[in-house]
Amino acid sequence: MLKNIITPVQSWLLSQKRCVGCGTSLVQGTKSNQQANNVVLCKCKRMYIYNEEKGTYRRALLSEV
Ligand SMILES: [Zn+2]
Repeated sequence: MLKNIITPVQSWLLSQKRCVGCGTSLVQGTKSNQQANNVVLCKCKRMYIYNEEKGTYRRALLSEV
């Protein structure tokens, strides 16, 4: 299994619905519905996937954007 390198600080930021790069709230990100995923683009160009069921964010994989 491929493991993403996510530090405790990054996972904490994600749990707070914030970008791991710049700390901006992902609620302010640009949403786009691609491939049935809820892709959120942060102002620093990092991409995240919003999980509607759980209400959580995670980093988008390259294959998803
Ligand atoms: Zn950001």
